[in-house]
Amino acid sequence: MNVHEYQAKEIFRAAGIPVPPGEVADTPERAEEIARGYGGTVVVKAQVHSGGRGKAGGVKLASTPEEARQHADAILGMEINGLTVNQVLVTPAEDIATESYVGILIDRKTQAPTFMVSAEGGIDIEQVAHTNPDAIRKLAVDPRYGMLPHQAYWLASTLYDDQALAKQASRIIAQLYDAFTSAGASMAEINPLISTDAGEVKAIDAKLSIDDNELFRKPSIAEYRDLSAEPWAETRAREADLSYVKLDGNVGCCVNGAGLAMATMDLVKFYGGEPANFLDIGGSSNPEKVVAALEIITSDPNVEVILFNIFGGITRCDDVANGIVAATQSIDIKPPIIIRLTGTNEELAIQILADAGFSAFTSMDEVVQRAVQMTKGN
Ligand code: GDP
Ligand code: MN
Repeated sequence: MNVHEYQAKEIFRAAGIPVPPGEVADTPERAEEIARGYGGTVVVKAQVHSGGRGKAGGVKLASTPEEARQHADAILGMEINGLTVNQVLVTPAEDIATESYVGILIDRKTQAPTFMVSAEGGIDIEQVAHTNPDAIRKLAVDPRYGMLPHQAYWLASTLYDDQALAKQASRIIAQLYDAFTSAGASMAEINPLISTDAGEVKAIDAKLSIDDNELFRKPSIAEYRDLSAEPWAETRAREADLSYVKLDGNVGCCVNGAGLAMATMDLVKFYGGEPANFLDIGGSSNPEKVVAALEIITSDPNVEVILFNIFGGITRCDDVANGIVAATQSIDIKPPIIIRLTGTNEELAIQILADAGFSAFTSMDEVVQRAVQMTKGN
């Protein structure tokens, strides 16, 4: 689960990290009021679950309350990477001397929470990693011991030559580790961590992703969920208890079991296609799940063909077949559907589908090739 910048800042503040104050507005008038309250120059910032807001025009400096209202008016309702802005954060502007990057995530390679820090902050860290990888210092933290003071200082010393600044950054890095672990996060990021001419180090941006599996034991953090900020398909998938990950391709995949779903995506790639999604309808027999899965897949305008790959073990093929038929009756599905199923109640499923005008296949190889060909106009 992603949280908004203002929510991440609340969590960071609670961990002791110096973060400038801020208030959220959902109307231009409210933004003006907040700006007037602070006095001086403020920053008006789009609250969406997306990075690169600055580049998209979603972060603006305002020197008067009227200007803050105008910026809020322009930013509210704006689309950034497909997500609509419903709120802006209004925060006093800082005088920035330097911008650095501090981030921590669960890293598969080190199999540990791993810090990445760089004196080249403000911009995309992916770009720095690409063009100047030596500018990033990495450290895997052993969760048995946590972040040790000398490790935090080692990271901080790559950000600042000045001892006083490095000490502050070192404290912030340790605090970020605490915030990360106690929130059950999979990723936490401060970009930029700034230093000011007055010699202070502060976090002026905050990003935090929470591991969904932590939410049940962190109800106060689960409350941060903002359904209006999430893509509809993700919310629907969670409600229907489906694992869904949207991808950029055009072959919609509906599979039972995560392993088979991965294998299906591999095979799509193998035959030169691009999967539009990972979708695991799970092991249970339930036609409603299939209806939900088809709603989700068809909500993606990139999908050109829908590929079912079902292995009937605990899942009954006839339940899936009934789900497909029910879905085609209740929703308008434009892309062609190609179905492979085999296993429990296979014959019954094939009959149900045949009665509804669908043909079903049993060879996985054959259907995947066929689906990929269809996206290539054959
Ligand atoms: P992002 O683009 O979504 O990562 O949003 P950020 O909060 O990181 O803001 C983008 C950029 O706007 C920062 O890197 C800063 O250069 C600038 N910015 C943000 N807040 C302030 C501020 O208080 N003062 C000044 N001068 N610039 C700011
Ligand atoms: Mn940023």
